[in-house]
Amino acid sequence: MVKSIKDGEVAELKQNTDIISIVSNYVSLKKSGKNFMGLCPFHKEKTPSFVVDPQTQLYHCFGCGNGGDVISFIMKTENLSFVEAVELIAKKTGYTLKYVETGSIKKEEKKSRLFELNELAGKYYNFVLFKSRTGRRALSYLRSRKISDESLRKFDIGYSQDSWDNFIKFAHSRNFTDAELVETGLCTVFRKDDNRPERKFDRFRGRIIFPIKDLLGRTIGFGGRIIPEDFVSEELIKGSTVKNYGSSKIVRPVKASRGRQRNFEMKKAKYVNSPETKIYSKSRNLYGIFEAKNNIVEKDLALIVEGYIDVISLYENKIYNSVASLGTALTSEQIKLIGRFTKNIVLIFDSDRAGMSASVKGIERLKEYNENLDLYNESNISIRVCILEKGFDPADYVIQKGVEKFLKKIEESVDIIDFSIDNIIRKYNIKNLTEKLRAANELLQFISSLSSSIIQEECIKKIAGKLNLKESMLLEEMLRKKSVKNNKYEQGEDESKENPYEEFESRNLNPQKKKEIEALQLLVHGHDTDSIILDLSTELFRFEDTRKLFEKVQKKIRLARESKEELNFPLIISSEELDDDNLNRIYNYIYFSDPGFLDFENICQEVGSNLKKLFLSEKIELLKNKISSLEKKIKEIETGNMEEIKKEEEMKLLEEEYLYCCKLHIELENKKNSLETDTKK
Ligand SMILES: [Zn+2]
Repeated sequence: MVKSIKDGEVAELKQNTDIISIVSNYVSLKKSGKNFMGLCPFHKEKTPSFVVDPQTQLYHCFGCGNGGDVISFIMKTENLSFVEAVELIAKKTGYTLKYVETGSIKKEEKKSRLFELNELAGKYYNFVLFKSRTGRRALSYLRSRKISDESLRKFDIGYSQDSWDNFIKFAHSRNFTDAELVETGLCTVFRKDDNRPERKFDRFRGRIIFPIKDLLGRTIGFGGRIIPEDFVSEELIKGSTVKNYGSSKIVRPVKASRGRQRNFEMKKAKYVNSPETKIYSKSRNLYGIFEAKNNIVEKDLALIVEGYIDVISLYENKIYNSVASLGTALTSEQIKLIGRFTKNIVLIFDSDRAGMSASVKGIERLKEYNENLDLYNESNISIRVCILEKGFDPADYVIQKGVEKFLKKIEESVDIIDFSIDNIIRKYNIKNLTEKLRAANELLQFISSLSSSIIQEECIKKIAGKLNLKESMLLEEMLRKKSVKNNKYEQGEDESKENPYEEFESRNLNPQKKKEIEALQLLVHGHDTDSIILDLSTELFRFEDTRKLFEKVQKKIRLARESKEELNFPLIISSEELDDDNLNRIYNYIYFSDPGFLDFENICQEVGSNLKKLFLSEKIELLKNKISSLEKKIKEIETGNMEEIKKEEEMKLLEEEYLYCCKLHIELENKKNSLETDTKK
């Protein structure tokens, strides 16, 4: 991150915060003399030994010895880092923190406007759900899923009216701008052609709204799902509205009963989510993490389910440690996020998804997970898989079979590697020798795709056991497979066919060009949400092809942004537009090589400053040459025999230039150094 909290701000915040009011949100405190006392939140006790002193603004527990100030209290109770705790306290007390580093203050202010707008939207949708007529069908649908109003409120669930711009109008009335509405993704921009003015619509229309929160409980985005069309509301039939529908017993949504509109309804996607924004990235967040994090620590286990409603249903049944993966396969960033709270993850699938019977979709999904196995091994995270019977999602399961059975299911979950291996073996009849060898073959292929050799070895052991084959034989076979693969590259055999982009792969590449290509990858694949790369100067690109491509991509994105067009990534540029074989080749390579799941904000930062550093290094090198040649000249004149007056004149000029170059040199070195400390942050 570029930002950091300004010096003195933490002290200022503490000045403005009363520890008593913060702690009382967590502990019920009673006045006792000049202090306050309560039951310690950090250890189990029956008689209070937890003391808060309003004079010193410190707390201390005589039972377990825990103690500190308001910040360490929040760090411990909310499982947050120092900075996160400071930010949470600021949020709770309404204090606006100031951040340092030029340029980023504005950025932070802008971000906080987006949080405010999201907060407003959350409250608005929540109001519509609970307090308005339009929300009644949604509310009765949620109740029919056996979710209490208490749980709905805990997760701030809402409903968005089926209208084109109700929320936009409301946000305008609260002084939010169109630009802010677009930036949060709360509205979408539609422009059919150049002649017509663009139109803005509410992104969420006629949907149940699930606010997505970050670790601090700030709303960063939303998920919206439709109410199933065939849902018949018992509650509404019983209610007075039934009169309006005459003898018909079915209460339909008004829109759905009209022919033309109905067709439109039918096309609606089940889920609509916020797009990636400055404050929301779906690969980096998990639905429900704010509500679940403390219980995840307590249980030392995180359950990962697929849907919003699963999380809430589990919560309703007092299972508080589940989160949903926001419609993506678990990413390494999400694993890292959970890793802060526990090293134990259980993925919960229903059997349809995981493909119990044959080679269905499930294994594909698991392969995606497995691609993260390296990370999973490094941080010692254990991922287990829990498969529910066909047709059950976690919500149904808990409701129909009960909490105990569900928890037992979780206990019986299997390690993700065992699960993957079993899934492959299941496809073959391993009593038959040929089939057994085929199974072994597929398993070895699967294993050699994993990059950690420790996991590979572990797998080999497991397979040997399951197939009753010799470990050494399997290992040999796997190594043979690998060496065949590697040799193809090393011997350059059929290189062009094997890998047409060999020249761009890292080990053959000039480091400068490598960085330039990385920058383009980030840009073309839409990972540069903060415009760090986009705003780089073209002179930083030292190779002709990458520079030309950068210019084209930059222009394209800027034009689209100016006209508020929505861009699709990866960015498509036609070969006519590029009009050059070299450019086309490098563009194709970039298009087909997504840099993968990473912390993009930081990566963009790093690539950007690397390019600047490389550029500066080159300039510095040139300057150094110039300086030494000036030094040489000065010496020559000093020692040479020349007329004194002329000598003095020449010297004066040379010394001036020399000083100028030295100054510039120091300046550039400083610039370069400051880039270095930037990237280290
Ligand atoms: Zn204690």
